[in-house]
This record gives sequence, structure tokens and C-alpha cells, in this order.
Amino acid sequence: IGCRFCYDACPYEAMELDENNRPVVIEDKCNGCGACESVCVSLQNGSISEGATARAIVVHPLEEVEG
Ligand code: SF4
Repeated sequence: IGCRFCYDACPYEAMELDENNRPVVIEDKCNGCGACESVCVSLQNGSISEGATARAIVVHPLEEVEG
């Protein structure tokens, strides 16, 4: 929704915003700290994403995504 909370929360400058203010993670800089996920408001009351089952940005362990 362009709130930018995740972008502002990243302490490692590992996130950029695309032309629509959507977050894009820079793989080489991200260390998986999870700060971006922890500030995401998409599951809170009043969120525009009512009915969502996961935050808009979710950090997964490498083992989980690489198999
Ligand atoms: S997990 Fe941490 S380092 Fe990676 S994009 Fe999110 S806040 Fe930045």
C-alpha cells in the first residue's frame, strides 16, 4: 500500500522502493534480521489488507526456501 514502514525499518539499506512504492529487497545486503517484517501493519485492525493471512513482507530461513 506504499506505507514504507518496512523500507524505513531496514537498518542495512537492503531495501529499495520501485516506481509504485513497493518494497524490493536487495539480496546481497539483506541478512534476514526480520526488522521489515516486524513493522508491517498488514495484519493489524483497520488495515487495507483485511482478510490477509500473512504480513505483506515475510522473512523465511534460507534452508526453507532453498530446500
Ligand atoms: S530482513 Fe532485515 S536486512 Fe533484510 S530487508 Fe528486512 S530489515 Fe532489511
